[in-house]
Amino acid sequence: MEQHCFDAVPKERLETVNEGFRNATDEIKQITERFSSNLNVGKCRKKLNYNGQFVSEISHYSEIDNIIRMDETKDNEEYAITFRHEYGHFADAQLGRPSMTENFNYALGADYEWYNPSNEEGSQNLNNLLEELENSSAFDSRYLSDILSGVFHNNTMIMDRYYQNGAAYYHHSNSYWDGLNGPEKAVEREVFANLFGIYAENDADVVGFVEKYFPNTTTRFKTIIGGC
Ligand SMILES: [Zn+2]
Repeated sequence: MEQHCFDAVPKERLETVNEGFRNATDEIKQITERFSSNLNVGKCRKKLNYNGQFVSEISHYSEIDNIIRMDETKDNEEYAITFRHEYGHFADAQLGRPSMTENFNYALGADYEWYNPSNEEGSQNLNNLLEELENSSAFDSRYLSDILSGVFHNNTMIMDRYYQNGAAYYHHSNSYWDGLNGPEKAVEREVFANLFGIYAENDADVVGFVEKYFPNTTTRFKTIIGGC
């Protein structure tokens, strides 16, 4: 069953991708079975930049062409991490963009409100989150780092914790989050793709962390993934 889910993946990366989904939740595995025949995977293209030089695109999912384009220069570990995230964008598109619904937006808003840095209680709650994060292996999750980047709009208090501890702060720019050089509802789309990556990887520490600190969003995500 499982071995046909990723037939579109280049042969030399198939084992890496299968391994990357090996511990995925049953709901995620069912999604990959359901959409296996719609999946297309290609290589990043080279494009001319403003200086007339050829530069490679970064890995992404293109909804217009319905294809995940992957950077083939990355090693297997990075390929698997990125592929799980891009598959999340593909699944979001196949499901009719649940990330862009009011329900998903409300869930994310409810979780954000708990940490709203503009009031004292929110700041304290955010501080508690960061204290626990510093002592958790979830600190190394790119998916979680990018969620924090989007939800808190690259808050310096969060960024400083990453830099002070030598952890990689994987993120998008605020102009991306604001839609200036990103899509509409960029935060919701990326949070969805990152949660997909988290449940596909299914690392107990990371799943435990996001479910504790983003209870509304993770519950909504699981309803979407499990209820279709
Ligand atoms: Zn993305």
